[in-house]
Amino acid sequence: MFLVGLTGGIASGKTTVSNLLSDLGCKIVDADKLAREVVSPGAPAWKKIRHHFGDQVLLENGELNREKLGEIIFADPQKRRLLNSLTHPEIHKAMLWKIFNLFITGHSFAVLDIPLLYETGKVLPYMTYTVVVNCSEDQQVERLDGRNKLTEEEARGRMDAQMPLAQKVKVATYVIDNSGSLISTEKQVRDLHRKFQRSKAHWRLRLLMSSALLVTLGVLFYVFY
Ligand code: ATP
Repeated sequence: MFLVGLTGGIASGKTTVSNLLSDLGCKIVDADKLAREVVSPGAPAWKKIRHHFGDQVLLENGELNREKLGEIIFADPQKRRLLNSLTHPEIHKAMLWKIFNLFITGHSFAVLDIPLLYETGKVLPYMTYTVVVNCSEDQQVERLDGRNKLTEEEARGRMDAQMPLAQKVKVATYVIDNSGSLISTEKQVRDLHRKFQRSKAHWRLRLLMSSALLVTLGVLFYVFY
């Protein structure tokens, strides 16, 4: 099995590309979705957050009060680090579990949709290929405005907080140009999907696992007979 890291800039079209890949049958591991799942009431990170921050960061229905939590960590960088140390390991664990399930069910690759793939860098070494979804800065602002109703200043402020998209494009294995029509993006995604299907990268891990299994069986045979 091999892993593909899908990323881009704010509103550059990551979800659009991820949905197209999913429609083509790819298995997607969505980091944002997992990040929401691990803080849902009763989940591991939710329990830790409650323990460290108290009931003041919960709503009446038990969900996280994101506004309150946001205020706290915005005012105190140490608290922000604490929150990250509570949530990040749980997100990584959930991600690993999903990947493991896909591996044992025989999938040759999985696409990891990680908006901050390059910024955090944690899982980057495990990606066989990276895909950056690109469009112009003006299009990012326009599309962000169309969806979130932000002012141009707010949109550019959010974009400035991330690594410039042009820099990500330089280091990506593949770039999807999402500055044109959705039809053009769809065609590029189909071509990319074909490349992944033809890739032999998954054999590396299969060979490694088969060798490990053979060695283990050999050792067991030697010990017991
Ligand atoms: P985020 O940073 O919030 O995760 P994203 O990178 O996942 O955003 P999308 O949600 O896929 O981006 O796209 C942002 C907006 O732009 C959406 O409203 C989407 O419908 C629109 N959009 C995406 N691609 C195109 C395109 N090629 N032409 C026109 N609109 C597009």
